[in-house]
Amino acid sequence: MAEPSTARPAMDPDEEAALLDGIQRWMDKEVRPVVMKHDHGDIWPAELVAQMAEMGLFGATIDTEYGGLGLPAQTYAKIVMLISSYWMALTGIFNSHLIMACAVERFGTPEQKALWLPKFASGEVRGGLALTEPNAGTDLQAIRTTAVRDGDDYVINGTKTWISNSINGSCFAMLVKTDPKADPRYKGMSLFIAPKGEGLSVGKKFDKLGYKAIDSAELVMDNYRLPAANLIGGVEGQGFFQATGGLELGRINVAARGVGIAEGSLRLATEYAQVRQTMGKPISEHQAIQLKIGEMVTRAAASRLLTLEAAKAYDRGERCDMEAGMAKYFASESAVTNSQEAMRIYGGYSYSKEYDIERYYRDAMLMCIGEGTNEMQRMIISKQWVKRNPA
Ligand SMILES: Cc1cc2nc3c(=O)[nH]c(=O)nc-3n(C[C@H](O)[C@H](O)[C@H](O)COP(=O)(O)OP(=O)(O)OC[C@H]3O[C@@H](n4cnc5c(N)ncnc54)[C@H](O)[C@@H]3O)c2cc1C
Repeated sequence: MAEPSTARPAMDPDEEAALLDGIQRWMDKEVRPVVMKHDHGDIWPAELVAQMAEMGLFGATIDTEYGGLGLPAQTYAKIVMLISSYWMALTGIFNSHLIMACAVERFGTPEQKALWLPKFASGEVRGGLALTEPNAGTDLQAIRTTAVRDGDDYVINGTKTWISNSINGSCFAMLVKTDPKADPRYKGMSLFIAPKGEGLSVGKKFDKLGYKAIDSAELVMDNYRLPAANLIGGVEGQGFFQATGGLELGRINVAARGVGIAEGSLRLATEYAQVRQTMGKPISEHQAIQLKIGEMVTRAAASRLLTLEAAKAYDRGERCDMEAGMAKYFASESAVTNSQEAMRIYGGYSYSKEYDIERYYRDAMLMCIGEGTNEMQRMIISKQWVKRNPA
């Protein structure tokens, strides 16, 4: 089956600049003053979520036909970079929601698109992606959740874990096995639009190192009944392809978050290095610190370029798993390294919760794990590279 195109024209540069300017003003006025309260207390930011819905962020990449902003991936990535440069976790509230929407928009039936996409775009229905299970993360084809046809319904049993937005969201793109005996395994997998209802409950909530204020918990399905009309695309056996198709945009998302952390760490370190004095001068004038900042600037800039290149390929409607993989891999490793280097530049104060930098350090590592681990990214990059360069 041919993949539906992701092609979308680039935005007018002036309009894009005005949009980003509006987001910057929102960050300065509404978000930055409350980040520490929400991060330290692990408190879901209800007011900010309402403002994000107002700004249309829950429909950022959904087509205007369905009430979304219809943004190209390039502009969307720049928004994610900007927000993440102050508080990465906030982007998780609409990122995985938009991957769910992307699966419906690319692979859903006309009826499914007409029913669900306007609700996703307005933020009336918010949610995320339910793929991972206790025994299966990287090896998605090993999932055990089953959906058994019963008349006009499917009955779903199983457990999903680590699901972002599972407590505060109300709908998920859920990957299941409709034919657990299929060989190859992916042919027995299907993706459902799964709103919360009888038989679907939230299980254990994870207490995490970082990525605070956004809920990560289990979803437990106990004879959870869904109409067959919720099977994305209406045909069984397409789920693996549909779920991993959405991951290209997911990887651009994560890359953009990595860029934000790398740039935010650089910004904080640059400010601090100019005010902190040792041996009679700002530490930015010591060569040891200059070497760090020089590398941090370069890493952040390279991450941004790789991410925008991947987003441009996505907007041209090209297959971009290698480009998205390179961006995700490099930007997430840059986020980790830049946040660590910024910690060193802050010295002892980096360890104080009175400063922001420790949050970047705690948040960064997730970027290496989510949307396909960096071990897997390098394998994907290599396989695609060799395929594109036959001997
Ligand atoms: C905060 C957070 C939020 C998350 N949100 C979501 C969400 O919203 N929805 C969702 O579905 N999931 C979510 N996840 C789950 C995440 O996608 C998985 O943790 C991730 O895919 C890795 O799977 P795993 O944890 O099972 O690790 P494993 O698959 O067990 O991997 C363990 C290690 O082995 C390596 N490895 C595994 N297989 C191979 C191989 N074939 N070759 C080489 N190396 C290999 C991995 O790279 C890794 O280093 C979230 C996770 C976290 C921590």
